[in-house]
Amino acid sequence: MGSRENSSCSKALETWDLETLDSSSRDSASHLEEQWRKFSPVLNEEDSTDIVLEDSRELLSLTSPPPGREIIRYEVSVNRRNIEDICLGCGSLQVYTQHPLFEGGICASCKDNFLETLFLYDEDGHQSYCTICCSGDTLFICESPDCTRCYCFECVDILVGPGTSERINAMACWVCFLCLPFARSGLLQRRRQWRHQLKAFYDLEGASPLEMYKTVSAWKRQPMRVLSLFGNIDKELKSLGFLESGSRTEEGRLKYLDDVTNVVRRDVERWGPFDLVYGSTQPLGYSCDHCPGWYMFQFHRILQYARPHPGSQQPFFWIFVDNLLLSEDDQVTAARFFQTEAVTLQDVRGRVLQNAVRVWSNIPGLKSKHSALTPKEEQSLEGHVRTRAKVAAQKTDALVKNCLLPLREYFKYFSQNPLPLYK
Ligand SMILES: [Zn+2]
Ligand SMILES: [Zn+2]
Ligand SMILES: [Zn+2]
Repeated sequence: MGSRENSSCSKALETWDLETLDSSSRDSASHLEEQWRKFSPVLNEEDSTDIVLEDSRELLSLTSPPPGREIIRYEVSVNRRNIEDICLGCGSLQVYTQHPLFEGGICASCKDNFLETLFLYDEDGHQSYCTICCSGDTLFICESPDCTRCYCFECVDILVGPGTSERINAMACWVCFLCLPFARSGLLQRRRQWRHQLKAFYDLEGASPLEMYKTVSAWKRQPMRVLSLFGNIDKELKSLGFLESGSRTEEGRLKYLDDVTNVVRRDVERWGPFDLVYGSTQPLGYSCDHCPGWYMFQFHRILQYARPHPGSQQPFFWIFVDNLLLSEDDQVTAARFFQTEAVTLQDVRGRVLQNAVRVWSNIPGLKSKHSALTPKEEQSLEGHVRTRAKVAAQKTDALVKNCLLPLREYFKYFSQNPLPLYK
């Protein structure tokens, strides 16, 4: 299989409820493993899904600890050290806490790395870094249609077993350690209830004041119901696969409103429920009777009507995009109303700033991808606002689209149309 390539892998892969599986008895796990093996030969040669299982009993014949992360295998196999006491990311024995996805420790700096990269996606719709160590240059992509995870060569060779990367490379189709029906591959043991662990980890260690929703198992994901205010993101949602083009069925829906002056709570409740509320200030160069702040206040008002009742565990997301029109005072007010700081997204090509927007949102991952601007960048942004052409407004789409990628962890998407690369 290729790395960082979206090959058309068999869509026949069943979706497994791994969380239930992890917490189920040993018997049913081995029953499913058997089922899995039975299932595999049904696929034709090209589409076959192989399984990497490494004999973890293999012992290293080393007398002194090997360098780098190889130490993980050595410490576990030779010194009989508990893997929870070793950082899976770097092999350090200075463990800060437990890795949320796999049995093993994580050191303070790898923990920071993990939080930074947790919801970072590349434009191909897959995560940007290795799911285990949060780095890695060349990554294997999980080819289960419902999974977005990647793994680096080093992690699989060290934790699953030597030569694993070669074996995966030779496979026509590979599914990852969070998607396989059984929990252990070599030293790599998926945690029980890993989605729950991930949420707990993020809520405890993450810097964001907003709580993270627990990610949703693929088989439980529902099509997204979207309320789009002032700007219509129908096109973006379709190209990301969250809405199906031309579908008249219940496969996701979008309600678009360009004016909400007369909209009251009853209306929103009648149209809803919604999973995502999108809103923006008017596109640049678009003349209207309202000041930019009006859009922000109206968005906030409608957002309150659309929110699920307090304490609801149902994932609910919102995003407000400012086309750099809000005054400084408005921005301060917005941060207070939305209870989070804005993130500035920039489209920079060949060092030239093409476009930028400010975004307030509870979609995870935004902050880590777009760190705070330096004063110089702020200045150049201000200049940009003054000189920006009307046409730039249309380019906002690509910036906004990127923000929506983490929602793949929560909602159904229609992957028969592979994600296009943004131009
Ligand atoms: Zn580490
Ligand atoms: Zn890795
Ligand atoms: Zn996977």
